[in-house]
Amino acid sequence: MIASAALVGEYGREIPMRAGEIIAIGSELLLGGRLDTNSLFLTEQLASVGVEVRFKSVVGDVEADIAAAIRTAARRAKVVVLTGGLGPTRDDCTRHAVARLTGRPLRRRPEAMESMRRRLAEWGRTPTGPQLRQALIPSGAEVLVNPVGSAPGFCLSWRGCLVVALPGVPAEAERTFAGSVGPKLALDSTVKERLERRLLHTFGLPESDVEGRLGGVVRAGSGVRLGLLASPLGVTVSLTAWRQHVSDLDRLARRVRVRLGQSVYAEGKDTMEEVVGRHLAAHHLTLAVAESCTGGLVGHRLTQVSGSSAYLDRVAVCYSDRAKVDLLGIPEALIRRHGAVSAEVAEAMARGIRSRSQAGVGLSVTGIAGPTGGTAQKPVGLVFVGLDAPGRRTTREFRFHGDRHSIKLRASQAALEMLRQWLVTTGSRGR
Ligand code: AMP
Ligand code: MG
Repeated sequence: MIASAALVGEYGREIPMRAGEIIAIGSELLLGGRLDTNSLFLTEQLASVGVEVRFKSVVGDVEADIAAAIRTAARRAKVVVLTGGLGPTRDDCTRHAVARLTGRPLRRRPEAMESMRRRLAEWGRTPTGPQLRQALIPSGAEVLVNPVGSAPGFCLSWRGCLVVALPGVPAEAERTFAGSVGPKLALDSTVKERLERRLLHTFGLPESDVEGRLGGVVRAGSGVRLGLLASPLGVTVSLTAWRQHVSDLDRLARRVRVRLGQSVYAEGKDTMEEVVGRHLAAHHLTLAVAESCTGGLVGHRLTQVSGSSAYLDRVAVCYSDRAKVDLLGIPEALIRRHGAVSAEVAEAMARGIRSRSQAGVGLSVTGIAGPTGGTAQKPVGLVFVGLDAPGRRTTREFRFHGDRHSIKLRASQAALEMLRQWLVTTGSRGR
C-alpha cells in the first residue's frame, strides 16, 4: 500500500496522489551548457499514472552528492526517478551511488548483458570493456529494458520508496520509462485518479489577448485549471482536470476553440508542420519554399514530418541577393529598388520558386533576424512572408521581437501559418 500525498486547491477538492521526485544526474547539467529536459516529459508521464512530482533536483556525477539527493528524496517521496549517469564512461556513477546507499552490491546481470549484447549486435558491434560495466546492476533490483540504447535501467524498493534509474539520453529515458516504468506504476496505483489535459495551440495573438478572450470560460471551483504558455511558436492554452471531469474538459475545450477561432492552429501533440502537411496532402497540392532569413528552418520543420515527400517539392535557401537572382530569377533591379527585405521581393520569391518548380504553392520568407543589420526604416525583426497559390498572391509584413533564434522561429511559424490559413479557407470553399 502506497501512502498518498494530497493535492489541494484549484482542483476544488483533495485528491490523493503518490508523491514523486525527479533527480537529474550529470555534471554537464550544472555547467550551463545543457538543460535537464528529461524531467519535463517525466513529470507529465508520472502525473498520468497518479504520481505528483513535488520536487526536482539536478546533481553532478559525484557519488556522494547522488546518494545524498536520493536519501533526501526517499524521505518525502514514494517514487524517486533518477535519469543519467548510467553510461559506460568513468564519470557515470549513478549505479555505484545507488548500490552503496541501499547496501545492494553491484552484480553483473545476465538479462542486462543479454539485452546490451542484442542492441549492440543490431548496430554491428560487440560490447567493449567499459560498456560491460553497464550490465552491473544493484542486487535485487529489477532490470529495465532500454529499447533504443545500450545502457539498461533498473528499479528497486528502498525504505518504502520505489527508486527508478533511467538512462540520461532523452530518447532512451523516454522509451525506457514508457516501456516498463509507466505500466508498472499504473498497475501499482492505489489511486484511480488521472490527470487529463487538453492543449490548444494558437499563433498570432499576444498572450494578453488570448487571456482576454478566455475571460469567464473557466469558472472557479469547476475542477478545471486553465493555463497559458507563451513561446516563439505562439501561445498554448492548457486545460487540466481529473479524469472524472473529462466531459467538462471537452466542453470547455470546445468553448475555448470558439473564442479563439482561427488562431487555433493545432491541438494536443500536433504541430504546425503536421497540420500544414495534412492540409496539403488532402488538397493534393505540392509546396516549394524559398527562404532567406530563416536559413532553411521552414524546410527543416516540414521535413521533420514523416511522409512529407508526398507534398514538399523543394526548399531553396537564397540568403544572398545573388542567390535570389540565380535561383529564383528575381530581377536585380527589383532588389536594388526595394531591398531584399521588402514585400516586393517576398512576393517575387514566392512567385519565382513556384514557377521554377511548377509546385502548386510557393511560400517565401525574407527578413532581418538581427541582432545586427537593422536600420530605422527596416528594424531587426522585420519579416515579410510571401504566398503564391492558386487564386491568391499575397504578402504580409511582421514585426517580431526577441533574439535571433526567436525571430527565426517566429518567422518560420508565421510563414507556415499564412499557408495554413490559405489552405483552411480554400478547403472550406471546396476547391
Ligand atoms: P548519461 O546517461 O549520463 O550517459 O547521459 C547521456 C547523454 O544524455 C548526455 O549527453 C547528457 O547530456 C544527456 N542527458 C543526461 N541527462 C539529461 C537530462 N536530464 N536532460 C536532457 N539530457 C540529458
Ligand atoms: Mg552523464
